[in-house]
Amino acid sequence: MNVNDSEILAGILEREGYVPAEKMGKADLILVNTCSIRAGAENKGLWFAHSIKSLKEKNPNLIIGLCGCVAQQEKENILKKMPFVDLVMGPQGIDEFAGLLKQIETTNDLRLTTNDKGYVTYFKEQACSTRKLPVKRAKSPRTYVSITFGCDNYCSYCVVPYVRGREVSRPMDEILAEIKALDKTIHKEVILLGQNVNAWVGGLANLLREVSAIAGVEWINFMTSHPKDLSDEIIAAMAELPQINHYLHLPVQSGSSKILKAMNRKYDRDYYLKLVEKIYSKIPDITLTSDLIVGFPGETEQDFKDSLSIIRHANFDSVNTLMFSPRPQTAAAALPDQIDGPTKNARLLAMMEVVENQALAKNQQLVGKTLDALVEGPAKDGRLSGRTRGNKIVYFDAPLELLYQIKPVKITSAKSWVLEGSISSGVG
Ligand code: SF4
Repeated sequence: MNVNDSEILAGILEREGYVPAEKMGKADLILVNTCSIRAGAENKGLWFAHSIKSLKEKNPNLIIGLCGCVAQQEKENILKKMPFVDLVMGPQGIDEFAGLLKQIETTNDLRLTTNDKGYVTYFKEQACSTRKLPVKRAKSPRTYVSITFGCDNYCSYCVVPYVRGREVSRPMDEILAEIKALDKTIHKEVILLGQNVNAWVGGLANLLREVSAIAGVEWINFMTSHPKDLSDEIIAAMAELPQINHYLHLPVQSGSSKILKAMNRKYDRDYYLKLVEKIYSKIPDITLTSDLIVGFPGETEQDFKDSLSIIRHANFDSVNTLMFSPRPQTAAAALPDQIDGPTKNARLLAMMEVVENQALAKNQQLVGKTLDALVEGPAKDGRLSGRTRGNKIVYFDAPLELLYQIKPVKITSAKSWVLEGSISSGVG
């Protein structure tokens, strides 16, 4: 979502006549788009904002904006802690950004002389359902289109409903218009985005069918899926429609039913495993990935073992392993039995090892197979880098002219996080 938000902010800046600076030291305006999903992400954004303070000292005309979820969470506190910031704007402010920019430009003189006047703040609790804003898309074959904003689920560890507001769905015609207007010579894969796309109000399966019918859309993905809302219709659409990748990110968060209840996830281990079984039965070649949090308050050794075992039972290709981090306003931050840092660290490392070994084993099963790969760009070692339909990175030798094309690649070797392959002679 943040990448997509940044592309929209860049699109608005471009429309308003701004051009990218050669380097940060020459910029007139720097926006720091922050994420508050975990303490680490929040600190990274704030640290970066502090690191550019010296640029403001050298160039008092520089406008520094702090956007995104940390801005929404901290609101005016940012101005107290970081007086060099001129604009503090939450993610729902993106619709008003062009107007805010005008305000900043016109209050420029005030801001030059004092930091306690002339700044601009904008916070809105609720996103609009419509969003017709310019997007300056990365020159990448994979591109993002938002279909929902916000979230109603209130998982007990998650700050998203507090910073991005209640869930709203973008209208179908607006989503389809945005996808139809994409430059299909570059953007071959559309990723439908939202905190919980399965809850899109018109039925995600219907939307997938409409997007599949758009000429030039070759691959479709969607994320993120809440397991409780993954309907039979969505699974059927994935199985039937050739444009939809057989890739699903389905966050489980814990393998323990007790912890899932405390997380307010609204499903238990048994439900999740039955759902996964159904997915494998309908789409046998699906690549399934997930998220697991270690060290949630009250997590016992047995709960942790249940999380380790679900990696094997669900046969995940990969898992984002995350350490529980108490977030402001959330219920889990106030729970008793918080787990100490060394225990959380040890569990995280143990889980990462299990995930890495399983990812390797699953990738090794692909050796010898030929998979379609969407060519993304040069890899660091001079070869080309592509993505399979299962979202796996694959490196292979091929000419750069194949950029943005979909090519069959024979997998020759596998590591945990990358495949290697070759394009058979004559292809391309
Ligand atoms: S579904 Fe839960 S984890 Fe996902 S954004 Fe909503 S509240 Fe957060």
